[in-house]
Amino acid sequence: MKLSDPVTTIKGVGDKTKNLLEKIGIITIGDSLTYYPNRYRKYEIAIPFLDAIKTFGQESDEVFKGDDAILVKIQNPAILKQTKRMPIVVYKHEMAGEKLEVVWYRTAFVKSTLKIGEEFVFCGKMERSGKGYKMEHPEIFPVNKYRQLEGKYLPVYSTTKGLSQNTIRNIVKEAIDLKEEGDDYLPDGIIKNAGLDGYDKCLRMIHFPDDLELLKNAYKRFAFDELFMFCLAMKYEKLTAVEQENKIVIEQTGLAKNAMEKLPFTLTDAQKKALSDIFSDIGDPKHIMKRLIQGDVGSGKTIVAFLAMLEVCENGYQSALMAPTEVLARQHYNNFVGLKEMLGLDDLEIIFLSGSLSAAQKRDAYERMQTIDKAIVVGTNALIQKKAVYKNLGLVVTDEQHRFGVKQREGLEEKSNSPHVLVMSATPIPRTLAIILYGDLDVTVIDELPAKRLPIKNCVVGESYRKTAYRFIEDQVKAGHQCYIICSMIETSENVEAQSVEEYTKELSSKLNKDIRIGKMHGKMLPKDKDKIMGSFACGDIDVLVSTTVVEVGVDVPNATVMMIEDSGRFGLAALHQLRGRVGRGEAQSYCIFMNSSDKDEVAERLGILNKTNDGFVIAEEDLKLRGPGDFFGIRQSGDFNFKIADIYRDSDLLKSAAREADILLKKDRELSLPENNLIKMRLSEFYEKIVL
Ligand code: ADP
Ligand code: MG
Repeated sequence: MKLSDPVTTIKGVGDKTKNLLEKIGIITIGDSLTYYPNRYRKYEIAIPFLDAIKTFGQESDEVFKGDDAILVKIQNPAILKQTKRMPIVVYKHEMAGEKLEVVWYRTAFVKSTLKIGEEFVFCGKMERSGKGYKMEHPEIFPVNKYRQLEGKYLPVYSTTKGLSQNTIRNIVKEAIDLKEEGDDYLPDGIIKNAGLDGYDKCLRMIHFPDDLELLKNAYKRFAFDELFMFCLAMKYEKLTAVEQENKIVIEQTGLAKNAMEKLPFTLTDAQKKALSDIFSDIGDPKHIMKRLIQGDVGSGKTIVAFLAMLEVCENGYQSALMAPTEVLARQHYNNFVGLKEMLGLDDLEIIFLSGSLSAAQKRDAYERMQTIDKAIVVGTNALIQKKAVYKNLGLVVTDEQHRFGVKQREGLEEKSNSPHVLVMSATPIPRTLAIILYGDLDVTVIDELPAKRLPIKNCVVGESYRKTAYRFIEDQVKAGHQCYIICSMIETSENVEAQSVEEYTKELSSKLNKDIRIGKMHGKMLPKDKDKIMGSFACGDIDVLVSTTVVEVGVDVPNATVMMIEDSGRFGLAALHQLRGRVGRGEAQSYCIFMNSSDKDEVAERLGILNKTNDGFVIAEEDLKLRGPGDFFGIRQSGDFNFKIADIYRDSDLLKSAAREADILLKKDRELSLPENNLIKMRLSEFYEKIVL
């Protein structure tokens, strides 16, 4: 069996299952192996009812706590009650004066299952009820069956409608069994230095962990693998790349300077510094520019990029700006069109390209890209698809870089003969890590927010504050401002997203003043519909926008002054910081309301950090401290760099060791041609395949 064999090789996987699996991205056996669980369900040791009472209510600090597992020997027959709405089965248990009442709904057959004298394990939540205890609708296991599960962790995967956990579990299990135990692709030296467990063992343990320690080791191994491949790919490229001289020397024409004077604001010193770094790069005949501009949300990166693109165009070359989402690309486009008009740049073309354009619109965009010199092309990753051909691309800019793989960025660079490269990111990364992660780029930091900005006022509140929050939103709207509400999302399966936005909006409209115009947006909407909503919000036709995190990245509506985030405990701090960055972009006072519906202290503590500071760097560091480096199961900070398991903050030590090991390896075997590095070389090419579009 090969990892590239279709998943239908596995016994019992027919067409129907195959289609369902495809929906969650599992096509080959290999895909199923790397379909890591979201969480684990633990089967606690079953304890007899009387013992369970003794420990009832005691807090546990286990990472995964399973349901209560109560062992009961049936004493008397269960009773079946027919209510108007449904049949209910009630079993009443009494021992040494302690009472337990167990209830099942709509499952009349339970009555006959519970035979007198037999032992069962009831798996669910045991609660106090009056003078006794109660369990509602627990799962029932014959005791022998439960013993086989006892103490184990079962994986819980994210899935799609019609595909059960058990089906996925069985497929993964089968795939692991089928996979021939082979040589580890990492050489012994690396495994030893980094303190890792073997690959095959980790693969089993990440899906079906025997215990927590082994699971942690598996996480560590796969996080290391990801980081190591990332570092290796980057360093390998760098070694093999030839230093390119600058064939696109850009001279300052004065256009950008002129434009700066006409802007309604003065650039901050940090923006000016970034611009001067860029100009000295692109004007230097010896090297092409490869620069990262790192600046916190709202620091004004876009205008810096725009001014650079202007000069490039004035020198007779095209520029392109690639954004990670349709909404963001469209926003940049509109922004640039506005700037062009304001500055009276009649001969500058702004071209928009995205996958959602009609065929005719695309054709038109392609044609203009091939014929017009003085053009700024703005779009999504449609900019790097085959059909996109440029006339003379001189500068490529990627916004919110972390959403793109390195390869995607390079895809755009390859569209022309070594254009200049500018990358913009709002992800705060300590310099030591930035040097590893962006090894091929020079870094400029914009460490200053535009003057006249008032710091955002924050509050972390519970359910009791909701009414006040809605009144507050009404007042802000009355004062002419706009608000975002990021609504709660319980599960991340299909349709749920849309549904929760719909429901929330409905509920909200009954609570807010009737005149308030509420809009809604979610990821399942067509790009053009999202654009429409974003457009109406930007021009003030919508007062309150209910949305999922699709507004997370880069969206800029300076008139919005309130960001309310439901159930904020479910996000990483970095994501929350990004969300918050959608407000406080104009001169009016802005507010961020973090709703916290969790009663856990650690959630409150985490959110407290956001309450205290608006500085992205501080937030990232504090969050890391709070979680400690050993916390493998917490919420990941952000989807940066598209890692599946690794988290650059939490795993910063692993990242450093991965970088070190990659260095050592390449020093010894630059071409990876030694036999012991054969498997690594193969992995590296697979790694490339995966990240190419
Ligand atoms: P980000 O760095 O998060 O991408 P943007 O480039 O979207 O930030 O800028 C945020 C907002 O600040 C925009 O509305 C922009 O026009 C405005 N802006 C940018 N630079 C300045 C400045 N120097 N003074 C005042 N406002 C500015
Ligand atoms: Mg931005």
